[in-house]
Amino acid sequence: MKTFAYRPVTEIDEAVALGGTYLAGGTNLVDLMKLGVALPDTLVDINQLPLHDVVRRPDGGLRIGAGVRNSELAAHPVVRRHFPVLSQALLAGASGQLRNMATTGGNLLQRTRCRYFTDVTKACNKRTPGSGCPARTGDHRNLAILGASEHCIATHPSDMAVALVALDAVCQVTGPDGSREIAVSELYRAPGDDPSRDTVLQPGELITAVDVPPLGFPSTYRKARDRASYAFAVGSVAAAVRITDDVVDDVRLAFGAVAHKPWRARVAESALRGGPATRDAFLAAADAELAAAEPLPDNAFKLTLIRNLVAATLEEVSR
Ligand SMILES: Cc1cc2nc3c(=O)[nH]c(=O)nc-3n(C[C@H](O)[C@H](O)[C@H](O)COP(=O)(O)OP(=O)(O)OC[C@H]3O[C@@H](n4cnc5c(N)ncnc54)[C@H](O)[C@@H]3O)c2cc1C
Ligand code: SF4
Repeated sequence: MKTFAYRPVTEIDEAVALGGTYLAGGTNLVDLMKLGVALPDTLVDINQLPLHDVVRRPDGGLRIGAGVRNSELAAHPVVRRHFPVLSQALLAGASGQLRNMATTGGNLLQRTRCRYFTDVTKACNKRTPGSGCPARTGDHRNLAILGASEHCIATHPSDMAVALVALDAVCQVTGPDGSREIAVSELYRAPGDDPSRDTVLQPGELITAVDVPPLGFPSTYRKARDRASYAFAVGSVAAAVRITDDVVDDVRLAFGAVAHKPWRARVAESALRGGPATRDAFLAAADAELAAAEPLPDNAFKLTLIRNLVAATLEEVSR
């Protein structure tokens, strides 16, 4: 492993001024350092920053500190009661030990699990720009079917981020040029011709919190994976829906493990709003969203998988 400076900090301004790589739970970053994929000069340990609270806002929404651990957030009584999609997504991820370490900020910014990205002996445009994308003709079974480019077909692996996108959550960010808000749905980039950048964050920007607005209707998360636990999603759906007299009044839908970012399914949402809450309508909405998909030979099964997940998830949440 390359040598690096280690700087624990207790103030947000101090963290930002150091201009290093932030270390939260370390469950992704340290693995990537051991593999030689991440090569930071300075690790800025943000675990002592005052970012560990979940606060209920007067409007019924939440402010989640970036340092809140995944296990703590999943078990929070307000999250369980009012935002079950978030609690379920968190509990569907990783293992108990990992969730005890993993943080809200780190989970959002974890990197793709594409096998070529984590293998420094292989070409990969995300790790080494311009070197190529062997996944296109190689192992792409769990890679993107939506929004990819010829330069990269990686997927974003987070479960939590899919729920946060469906919940219209917003990141609070502080950096060298001040503070700003970024909707979680706008945090991630499409790969385009520069897949090396996963997000729109600028160097040195620190996520301090994630705000979740009030929801007020039922929500749930459904994840398909190769094993019943301790496995990344092959496809997932976060859904929230309000139904009145068998008609879909309002709906939020996001897909996981199908794109470079958690995929807000706005085409499907439009198709559903004002229509009947039936399985046929749910399937038709999924088809409308997936019309833009460009699957490769070994991941075309995700079309059927997502279609069925959408129907099952919406049926469950509308019961
Ligand atoms: C075996 C295994 C299985 C897993 N399975 C799943 C799964 O099924 N579903 C799932 O969603 N995840 C899964 N994970 C991933 C896990 O959830 C992430 O590793 C974890 O959430 C990352 O959080 P962390 O706090 O440890 O981040 P770190 O590893 O500390 O950091 C990750 C990245 O975020 C940056 N960062 C961290 N905090 C901030 C901040 N506040 N502001 C700016 N940058 C920041 C770091 O610099 C780094 O680049 C799995 C991981 C492992 C090892
Ligand atoms: S899909 Fe992206 S991450 Fe995977 S090899 Fe291609 S460029 Fe690298």
